[in-house]
Amino acid sequence: MAFSFRGGIHPDYQKEKTAASVIVSNMPQPEEVVIPLSQHIGVPCEPLVKVGDRVLEGQMIGDCQTGLSAPIHASITGKVKAIEPHWTVTGIKAPGIVIENDGSDEKWEEAPFEGAVTDLSPDEIIAYARNAGIVGMGGAAFPTHAKLRTALDRKVSTVIINGCECEPFITADHRAMVEYPRFIVTGAELIRQCLGVDDVVICVESNKPDALATMRATSDGTGISVLELPTKYPQGGEKQLIRAVTGREVPPGKLPMDIGCAVFNVDTCASLYRAIYKGQPLIKRVVTVSGSAVASPANLLVRIGTAYRDLFKFCGGFTSDPYKIITGGPMMGSAQHSVDIPVVKNTSSLLAFAEDGGEEGFSESDVCIRCGRCMAACPMRLQPTKIYENAVLNRFGECAKLNVQDCIECGCCAYVCPAKLYLVQAMRMAKSQIPRGGVKK
Ligand code: SF4
Ligand code: SF4
Repeated sequence: MAFSFRGGIHPDYQKEKTAASVIVSNMPQPEEVVIPLSQHIGVPCEPLVKVGDRVLEGQMIGDCQTGLSAPIHASITGKVKAIEPHWTVTGIKAPGIVIENDGSDEKWEEAPFEGAVTDLSPDEIIAYARNAGIVGMGGAAFPTHAKLRTALDRKVSTVIINGCECEPFITADHRAMVEYPRFIVTGAELIRQCLGVDDVVICVESNKPDALATMRATSDGTGISVLELPTKYPQGGEKQLIRAVTGREVPPGKLPMDIGCAVFNVDTCASLYRAIYKGQPLIKRVVTVSGSAVASPANLLVRIGTAYRDLFKFCGGFTSDPYKIITGGPMMGSAQHSVDIPVVKNTSSLLAFAEDGGEEGFSESDVCIRCGRCMAACPMRLQPTKIYENAVLNRFGECAKLNVQDCIECGCCAYVCPAKLYLVQAMRMAKSQIPRGGVKK
């Protein structure tokens, strides 16, 4: 049985633009890629190559052995042209390795594992995840090897595989579940083997009946269950998902593992399968390209480091000048100022909107009318209007008392606010002003 979570919204999902679009896997190779040294939460990589070196597709080109990190790999074969700062999704420049394609199809060879899932030890699975540079592909980009290690040490009892993909427009995980369910289910079996848990649940929202069917058929007989969850945003949020599956709440300030749960994205599972059974590091991912300004929306299998510009071009360009480009979904994603930014490991979507619609406009226009809608919509049971009032007056101690640190920046409050107040921006600002560990209340 699925439990529901309090709050949430039902936005116009607009997934029909690409929900039935088969993943395009033959996109022409880019002439050049930029592989950022940091595509994960934690310490950036150090380059393992220098300008002028020839690198092969799949070759590790950056790593960091100390601290939380995940190695990076060349996604094309060619010459290292530069190692220099480049624009990133955060709006700042950060170092990346620029590789010029030499047009050859030579690949770095890693022998695939040929045994059964049950032949692998936890340490071996974690080592595969690390060497392949796998990170959480649902958005967080937390290094998977570190999450597996912590979950193993903490002896979690429930593993949740997240196939909800609750953000509007995005259909990358949906198509992955339909088109390569075996990779995902075997990846889930690998995680189960690594962590030694019995309880593994794949969660899919009810608006993806074909994905539910493939997940159910493929996991039949494996002991992995598939749970249909109601379609409600943000169903794919970790804490909302845990509540939906177990009925348990992650207490304020705590993590899923504190109540025995670990959550992995479906495409992270598929990447683990590829790393072990195909010898492939994480050098490609599925990206949904959509929005009212895109001529031919599609799901594309894209090499990491490919410029946004190349994806839009492949999708027929723009029907009109986009007034807004977003990566990561319209609710929780971030607006981008350039199409020269490279796709990274957690780029699930690239959206371009024409001025005349396809997205709610968020322009602050009025004062709070005390309608309470933001509180009813907040899935974290916060009081957005009160936090907002304190944040704009720089009263961050009050914001901390109102548990602003628990805000997941889902945007539900701003979506329902009739005054169109910049509630999420206020939450982000307040969170950034509160030191780790909180302020004295
Ligand atoms: S953005 Fe934060 S305050 Fe607003 S609804 Fe989401 S969790 Fe609640
Ligand atoms: S939804 Fe907007 S107007 Fe209504 S109480 Fe919240 S902040 Fe105020």
